[in-house]
Amino acid sequence: MSKQAHLQGSPEHSAMVCLHGQGVVKGYAIGRAAVMSAASLEVAHYRIADTDIQAECLRLKQALQAASRDLQAMAQALPDDAPRELGPLLNVHSLLLDDPMLYEQTCALIESRHYNAEWALTAQGQVLAEQFAVMEDDYLRERASDIRQVIERVLREMSGSPAFISDLVTSNSSDPLIVVARDISPADMLRLRGGRFAAFLTDLGGPTSHTAIVARSMNVPAVVGMGNVRALVRDGDILIADGFLGTVLINPSEQVLAEYRERQAGYQQERAELALLKDAPAITLDGIQVRLQANIELPEEAQEALAAGADGIGLFRSEFLFMGRRTLPTEEEQYEAYAAVVKTMQGKPVTIRTLDIGADKTLDGDVTVATNPALGLRAIRYCLANPAMFATQLRALLRASLHGHIRVLIPMISHMHEVHATRRALDNAARELEEQGVAFARNISLGAMVEVPAIAIAIEPFVDALDFLSIGTNDLIQYTLAIDRGDSDVADLYDPMHPAVLRLIAHIINAGDRGGKSVSVCGEMAGDSRVTRMLLGLGLKEFSMHPQQLLDVKKEVRLAHSNALRVKVASALNRAERIDLASLA
Ligand code: PEP
Ligand code: MG
Repeated sequence: MSKQAHLQGSPEHSAMVCLHGQGVVKGYAIGRAAVMSAASLEVAHYRIADTDIQAECLRLKQALQAASRDLQAMAQALPDDAPRELGPLLNVHSLLLDDPMLYEQTCALIESRHYNAEWALTAQGQVLAEQFAVMEDDYLRERASDIRQVIERVLREMSGSPAFISDLVTSNSSDPLIVVARDISPADMLRLRGGRFAAFLTDLGGPTSHTAIVARSMNVPAVVGMGNVRALVRDGDILIADGFLGTVLINPSEQVLAEYRERQAGYQQERAELALLKDAPAITLDGIQVRLQANIELPEEAQEALAAGADGIGLFRSEFLFMGRRTLPTEEEQYEAYAAVVKTMQGKPVTIRTLDIGADKTLDGDVTVATNPALGLRAIRYCLANPAMFATQLRALLRASLHGHIRVLIPMISHMHEVHATRRALDNAARELEEQGVAFARNISLGAMVEVPAIAIAIEPFVDALDFLSIGTNDLIQYTLAIDRGDSDVADLYDPMHPAVLRLIAHIINAGDRGGKSVSVCGEMAGDSRVTRMLLGLGLKEFSMHPQQLLDVKKEVRLAHSNALRVKVASALNRAERIDLASLA
């Protein structure tokens, strides 16, 4: 339902345009549009004479250098209160800008096709962005937007008017402002920081785009992937952004404004009430104690987890330490990062997942590649195939666990010999540290993500061999239903409520209970308060989710009667029937 505009209206008020996109941060905002410039849509394309080629390449080089200097200066002067994601994101942009290939290949287009520098750069950016856009991995696919943002930056530099920000931002008006942009780069975010922005709306981007990440950290509603919001909205228009529905209403009537003001006040009231639950226990009406933990991607997020009242970190996706850089993080860097999280969590358990990175996804020219990266050398398979890199991570984990309670989580286990190989690698790392006289903690817990259906079906030996299990429903659903989790063409078939998925989850939880091992869910299902009752009905007692979802889930837990839910869910699953969530309310 994205990227469409339609007119809404009634005879008594003027027609109002409603645009749809993807709501990535919930909430309502009412304010004036601050429309940001998009140089890539505004620059002229023309051919140049032979004699101008050299000067054009020089103009390109100077713009690249100026943009790079600008970014470096920004990264160095990063204010303390800047959203913590900005540093690494600016770093990714610097790396892209400084890549000599960007200059060389763009210059080659100026020479061979006689494009002006702006045209050549836009064309080269398109080629690079398309290469990223077809990648399987969500994170890498999102890097297509980094390319576009870097190109945009250089184009602004060449236009001689690097202004991105609407005049309204610098005006004295006290109205809340809603940023409307083609896309928002990390550097743009930094410039916008401190402004009184009520929401972010962008033409491009998905749930893992920078706009989404930073808006989430600023707790400001955001709708991305709107297609043409920037073209349809004028600076100063009155907007209503709805982060729940993923919509924006342009110049709504007084009646609609009043209705949304009421919704906004209701939502704020709801958030304030939820905040009171922070220190309340997560216990069902029939006295079942539930553990609510947090998923984090960067060490700094542990603070947010603690503030939300999390019982620990259920999933630290360590791969984020490895991304957006040219070299692997050293043992020391990793040790610092893991130790920082453990210290922040003040004795609460911290579950750190070993590197979960995908297979090599580069396409080989025009030749169709037969391998499927989702089924390839990823996660634990990749780590076991790169023992030196894996050993570095395991050493850092063993050392950091001196500072608190670390649990090591292995992603994508599909065979028992992978568990044995991981244990051996962990033992070897411990022996090496011992021989070198480096301090580390012994008896670290080892658990596995259950995300491959094979081990979900034949789970019992894994319960015996491991200390704990964590169900990665995002991948478990993908592999069980044969639905690519990132492919929007089949997104409607990605169904967490499929009886086969629910039976697998129930089977894993029951096996864990029988073997006396803890089982958590750390996929997106765990943080979706609409399915909390379902998970309780499946017997789940440990959830791990984004810190911002924690209180919504806690509220559901405290209103649920676990045993009644278990009876209802079990009888439906026996018959492999679809369960209507409303029937569990
Ligand atoms: C999952 O697969 O559910 C999971 C938590 O891991 P990720 O989303 O990082 O693949
Ligand atoms: Mg996974």
